[in-house]
Amino acid sequence: MDERNVLVNRVALVTGGSRGIGRAVAQALAGAGAAVAVNYRNRQDEAAATVAEIERAGGAAIAVRADVAVRAEVEAMTERVESELGPVDVLVNNAGIATIRGVDDITEEDFDQTLAVNLKSAFLCTQAVLPGMRKRGWGRIVNVSSIAARGAGGIGVHYNASKAGLEGLTRGYAARLAADGITVNAIEPGLIDTEMAVPLKESGVADRLPVGRIGTPDEIGQAVLMMIGNGFLTGQTVAVNGGGSFL
Ligand code: NAP
Repeated sequence: MDERNVLVNRVALVTGGSRGIGRAVAQALAGAGAAVAVNYRNRQDEAAATVAEIERAGGAAIAVRADVAVRAEVEAMTERVESELGPVDVLVNNAGIATIRGVDDITEEDFDQTLAVNLKSAFLCTQAVLPGMRKRGWGRIVNVSSIAARGAGGIGVHYNASKAGLEGLTRGYAARLAADGITVNAIEPGLIDTEMAVPLKESGVADRLPVGRIGTPDEIGQAVLMMIGNGFLTGQTVAVNGGGSFL
């Protein structure tokens, strides 16, 4: 199969697609032929830059603002994407926050906000695109989790809980949607070189990894594309972590 064309005539929505991992995922999907909606919350300039890069490479994309933790904004975003690009065939729930908190300083607000942005958002976005995917009998959903779903990680227990929940959501939907032609998988990145990783990079984690370096956003983009290309792969979590599983 020619990977450059697997998503021709498909529409993809990448939450938090404006920068970091989401940007690389948006570029990978556009490179495979999808028209891509690049969601962002605050940084309009970064979203516009991602769209411009995709267009320069010959792809199609739009930027669409929404706080994906808020149902009304998710619904408005989905309507706009559908009217400008068409119904969403591929959803990548990537938007996330990582507010570093110790066991004793974490507040109820930190917990609620992290669960809303990292977990509830995936539920809201999935609900919004599901009727269309079902109608067409085809859909691909990828949820961007983290190694923190299973390990301690460097962010905090709120982040651990949000990502572990996201993996439960993945398996729950996968089991219930397989018969509709919709696959749902999670990807579990190790430390990836983005703005989110800056506070953790100093900890010397690269030296402890078997590959001797942290990952690049493009390596996650490639892995997402691989998952989307395989209709027999569903309900799985794939770790992309530089050999971190062997530690
Ligand atoms: P990042 O560089 O901080 O980018 C975060 C993205 O999410 C931005 O596009 C941001 O939009 C968007 N976003 C945040 N809150 C949002 C909201 N409420 N509504 C809509 N968009 C929102 O992060 P990243 O490193 O690329 O991380 C992407 C995903 O990978 C996250 O889910 C993260 O937990 C996960 N992850 C990252 C790593 C890592 O080492 N980097 C490792 C494991 C998992 P604005 O620019 O507009 O704010």
